[in-house]
Amino acid sequence: MSSTVVKDVEKVNSIVWFRNDLRAVDHSGLSHAIDNSKNVIGVYCFNPHQFKLNNLGFPKTDSFRANFLIESVKCLKEELKKINISLIIGVDKPESLISSIILKKNIGRVYLQDEWTEEEIKEEDFLKKIDIDIFKFNDQFLYHPQDVDINNISNVFTNFRKYCEKKLHVRQSFVLNTKMNEDNLIEDEFLLPTLKDLGLNNFNFDHRSAFPFKGGYKQGLDRLNYYLWESKKVSFYKKTRNGLIGKDYSSKLSSWLSNGSLSPRMIYHSIKDYEKKIQKNQSTYWMIFELIWRDFFKYISIINGNKIFKVGGILDKNYIWIHETKLFEKWINGKTPEPFVNANMLELKYTGWMSNRGRQNVASYLSKENNIDWRWGAKYFESKLIDYDVHSNYGNWMYVSGVGNDPRDRKFNIKFQAERYDPNNKFQNLWLQEKLSLF
Ligand SMILES: Cc1cc2nc3c(=O)[nH]c(=O)nc-3n(C[C@H](O)[C@H](O)[C@H](O)COP(=O)(O)OP(=O)(O)OC[C@H]3O[C@@H](n4cnc5c(N)ncnc54)[C@H](O)[C@@H]3O)c2cc1C
Repeated sequence: MSSTVVKDVEKVNSIVWFRNDLRAVDHSGLSHAIDNSKNVIGVYCFNPHQFKLNNLGFPKTDSFRANFLIESVKCLKEELKKINISLIIGVDKPESLISSIILKKNIGRVYLQDEWTEEEIKEEDFLKKIDIDIFKFNDQFLYHPQDVDINNISNVFTNFRKYCEKKLHVRQSFVLNTKMNEDNLIEDEFLLPTLKDLGLNNFNFDHRSAFPFKGGYKQGLDRLNYYLWESKKVSFYKKTRNGLIGKDYSSKLSSWLSNGSLSPRMIYHSIKDYEKKIQKNQSTYWMIFELIWRDFFKYISIINGNKIFKVGGILDKNYIWIHETKLFEKWINGKTPEPFVNANMLELKYTGWMSNRGRQNVASYLSKENNIDWRWGAKYFESKLIDYDVHSNYGNWMYVSGVGNDPRDRKFNIKFQAERYDPNNKFQNLWLQEKLSLF
C-alpha cells in the first residue's frame, strides 16, 4: 500500500483527483492539499470506458449506478464550492483530461485515493510518465492499512474480525477546518453529464424499490442520521437485516460507501456515539460486524491481486463451469424455475437494488445449481448494482461460488430460503404478480 503522509512540502498548485472518495469530509488527501498548496483544483472524470458494453453485451455501469454517480458528483461539486475549490468534471479518459489540466494550470502535485485493482492502476498509470508528485491516501477502510499487519491476515473472516477487534482501533474521522481563499475558485464551465451523454438509457423510478434514495454526501448523511438517531432502526438491525421489502430492514448505506460519499469511519463513530447516548445492543454491534466484512474483502483483494477475477478464485479451484447464454439470460430476466430467484432478479433489473439475502440466493443458484461461470453473475451485478464495489462484489461472489473465503462451501436450498424469509410470498408477489408500476 502506498499511503503517504508528507510534512512541510513546498507550496505548489495541486489537483485532488476524486474517484471513489466523493466527499469533502474525512478526506486526508483533500485536507493535505488545502494545507500545503497555493491553489487546489478538484477533478472528476466520467471515464467512457466505465459505461461501454462489456463482452456479455450489457453496459459495464448501467443507468441506476450512473445516475447515482451523477447525483453524487453534483453534491461533491457543491460541497467543494463551500471551501472555495472548483470541481472540473469531464466525460473523458483521466489521462487526457488530467494531463491537460496539469499543463494548463502548472500543477505540481496530484492527490488521490489509493486503489490496487488492475483497472484502477491502469487508469492512473499515465501519472508516472509526468514529472509530478503523487500522494495517495487510504480513507476507504475502517481499519487503516498502516495499522494492519497485512502479512498475517487470515483467509477466514472470523479470525480477521477477532484480530481487528482485539488488536486495532478505528482512527478518528474528521471534518475539514480549513478552506482555500475565494480567489482559488476558477471559472466554471464544466457541466454534469446526463445519462444520454454517457450513452445510457433513462429509466423510470419503480415505486416498489427498497432503495428510493439519491446520491451524494448530504443524502448519505441524512440516511445515516435517519437510521440511527431519528428512527433508531439500528437498535433492531440484527432482527431485521434479512428482510426483503422496504427501505428500513437494513441501513442501505452501501451505495454511499461504495463511491465514498460517506466513509466507513464516519459510520463507525456515529454508531459508537449512538451506543453511548441511546443504546448499545447486539444490533448496534452487528452493524459494525458487517462493516468489518467490507474491510475483510478489501484486504482479501489486496493480498490476492488479480486472482479475485479468475474463475478458480483465490483457492485456484478447478471446477467445471458452463457458458450457456440462454440459461444465463433466464437468470437475468427472472425466468428460472425458482420463483424466489426470479423475484430477486426482477427487483435488480427494475431498481438496481437487491437485499443481501437475495444476493446470496441468486448467486448460489447461478453458480451452484446452474454451474454457470460465477464471473458472469459478478459482471451482471457490476452493471446493475447501485452499490457495486469491486472488492465486496467479487469477494462475495467468490465466497458464495465456492472459490473464495467460505470454509464450509455452502449451497443455498432456495425453496427452504424462500419459506423461511418470505413465508407469505409477499416479496415474490410484489415482483412476480404486480405489473411494472411506475411513476
Ligand atoms: C453475491 C453478492 C454480491 C455483493 N456485491 C456487493 C457490492 O457490489 N457492493 C457492496 O457494497 N456489497 C455487496 N454485497 C454485500 C451486501 O449484500 C451489501 O453490502 C448489503 O446488502 C448492502 O445493504 P446495506 O447497506 O443495507 O447493508 P447493511 O446490512 O446495513 O450492512 C451495513 C454495511 O456493511 C457492509 N456489508 C454488509 N454485508 C456485507 C458483505 N456481505 N460484504 C461486504 N460488506 C458488507 C456494507 O458496506 C453495508 O452497507 C454483495 C453480497 C453478495 C452475496
